[in-house]
Parts: sequence; structure tokens; C-alpha cells
Amino acid sequence: MSAATALIETDALIVGAGPVGLFQAFQLGLQEVSCQIVDALPCAGGQCVALYADKPIYDIPGIPVCSGRELVGRLQQQIEPFRVPLHLGQQVETLQRQADGRWLLATDRGLRFLAHTVFIAAGVGAFVPRRLALPGLDAHEGEQVHYHDIDPERLSGQHVVVMGGDEVAVETALRLADQRQCASVTLLHRIDKFRLDPGLDQALQTALASGAVRLRVGQPLEIETGGAPARLAALQLATLAESTERLALDQLLPRLGLSPKLGPIADWGLALERKLLPVDPATSATAEPGIYAVGDINHYPGKRKLILCGFHEATLAAFAAAAYLRPEQRQLLQYTTTSPRLHELLGVAPRRP
Ligand code: FAD
Repeated sequence: MSAATALIETDALIVGAGPVGLFQAFQLGLQEVSCQIVDALPCAGGQCVALYADKPIYDIPGIPVCSGRELVGRLQQQIEPFRVPLHLGQQVETLQRQADGRWLLATDRGLRFLAHTVFIAAGVGAFVPRRLALPGLDAHEGEQVHYHDIDPERLSGQHVVVMGGDEVAVETALRLADQRQCASVTLLHRIDKFRLDPGLDQALQTALASGAVRLRVGQPLEIETGGAPARLAALQLATLAESTERLALDQLLPRLGLSPKLGPIADWGLALERKLLPVDPATSATAEPGIYAVGDINHYPGKRKLILCGFHEATLAAFAAAAYLRPEQRQLLQYTTTSPRLHELLGVAPRRP
């Protein structure tokens, strides 16, 4: 069986590696429920990393202040004892109940999981790159239009346009300029202002002054193609002066930010209320046996979309899943402070033979 079609069996699959998905893995670890995590983004952290990595959070219990990135780093450190496999850069597309009661899930990159339980920690949906909507542009995706980072070798000797005004767009343009492989690097933004931290702003000004990066201000109106087969040759831009200009290019890298899309979850046959999954607040269980929803994606009376609330939901869901998986076992509440068994699981005491 090839790696692309291999079937991974697990007690639990967590959909989403945001803060709540990561803490879910910790709570499942304490319950001795094995799990794996999938996320559409290339790194863990969900909104904390995708939307406010360097901004401060003040309402995590016991941590007076930390950035989104720091919180995610600590959550990842906390699950290290459980060695949870993390499958990044792929979206879970399908969920189907099997005859034996397990759930079959498949990603858009060919991974398949057979899980006894599923924890949907999908937040406001999978973060996917915002697309540039221009007639005919999609036909060039993969060849000349790239929404994800590509091998710089493919841009060698080419006139490259990076479109966007945020840190990712500017960092992409500066990185390509530093690599000195492109024939030219142009940063295209609809206005002539950038919201950057002072260090990055300085680096951009230096690159603009030296000509390593060129700046064009304008909004793309349409594409121009040429040759046979037709290749993307230029963008027609509406400028701030209300005229149009032509911007010739070989390669276009739109970096327009990320937008969350509920996407395939809407097609999994689960009951949805205004794009949220209703759950029992005592267990975070959905109406489907073995499926739990935690964090921003779920809904119950009094729900608050806060990380702390997601952590609480994940804790209750882990207890509920352990009872679902091992109905014959009496559930004990154990403290991490005093339980020898939890100390073994956490790797702070040697495992007994
Ligand atoms: P998310 O963080 O949204 O993570 C969900 C993950 O699931 C994403 O990574 C997504 O890519 C992935 N995913 C979704 N669908 C799929 C799929 N089909 N396949 C694979 N992956 C999928 N909360 C606080 O408590 N305190 C604060 O100070 C605070 N500040 C905030 C500031 C800002 C600017 C914003 C936007 C939010 C803030 N929040 C704050 C809210 C907090 O970030 C969210 O409550 C929290 O991120 C929810 O975590 P989550 O794990 O449920 O979802």
C-alpha cells in the first residue's frame, strides 16, 4: 500500500491544531486515548498563529501575558510526552461512518484515518489563502500563479510579482530579493502604505532604495495573456491616479492573507446551526456517536469563543471519550499533582514494568 493511501488507525483524530485542538491532545493523553492531529495550515496554532502571532494575550489562567505564538509553543511542549503525530498542510475533506462504528476520514493530500472518535476543533474553519479574483487567472495556477511558497529555483531568471501589503507579502518579496535568483522582484499593493513592524518596514525601505525590490501601487483589473499555449503576460492595474497601467510579469505570488472556510465540514452530514456544531455542554458530544466538537466551532447555551472555554470543553470531551471507548472501566478523577499513573504518562516518573 503506498504512503498516499495508507490507512492510519487511531483511537482519536483531532481536526484542527489550534490552541483547543492541541490541548485536546493533552487531555486525551492523560486519559490514555491515542490521537493524531491534522491541520490545513503548514504550522500548528490556528488563529493564535495565523491571525495574531505576536500580539499579547492576557486571559490565559496562570500566564499574565504571552503572545499567540508563545502560547502555542507552550501547548506543543505540553503534549510532547504523548508524541502526538501532527499532519500539517492538509485539510480533512471527508468523514464517513463505517459499519463497525468507526469513522473514516480522508485529507486532500491522500491521508486516510480510521478513528474510533473524532474531535472537531476546527475553529472558524480551515485557513486558506485569499484568492485573487480575476477572470482567467485560475487557469495559470500552479504554472505562473502560486498561492503557496514554491521552490525558488522555479522563479530563477523570472520577473516575479508578489501581491499584498501585510508582513507575509513583504517578507516573501524581501526573501526573493535576498536570494538574487529572480530577474526582478516587484511588490504590488493596492495602496502606498504598509502596516509593518519597524524592523520589517526598515528592511523594505532599504530594499526599495537599492532597487532590490520594486514597488507598484494599483489594483489588478484584468490579466493579459500571450503566446500559444497562452501564458500570463501582464496585469492591467487601476492606479490611485485613476488611470490604468500595465505590469508585465512571468510569475505572480498573491499573498492576500488567510481566510477561514468551514469548507468540507458543512458536507459531513452533521447538524449545523449557523455554521456551528451544537454540542452537549456536559461532554462536548455532537449528536453523532463518537464525534465531539470543541473550541470556536461548537455551540451550546452560554458559549463564549475564548481559549479558556475551549480548554474546559476539551477536558470534558476527553473524559467523555474515555467513557465511550472503555464503557466497562470506572472513571476516576486523578490529579496530575499526585497521581503516579499520570506521572508515568507525563514522563516525570519512570514507567512501571
Ligand atoms: P482555531 O484557532 O480557529 O483553530 C482551528 C484550526 O482548525 C485552524 O488551524 C484550521 O486551519 C483548522 N481546520 C479547520 N478545518 C479544518 C479541516 N477541515 N481540516 C484541517 N484543518 C482544519 N481568545 C482568548 O481567549 N483571549 C484573547 O485574548 C483572544 N484574542 C484574540 C485576538 C484575535 C485578533 C482573534 C481573531 C481571536 C482572539 N481570541 C482570543 C479568540 C481565540 O483565538 C479563539 O477562541 C481560539 O483560537 C479558538 O481556538 P480553536 O482551536 O477552537 O480554533
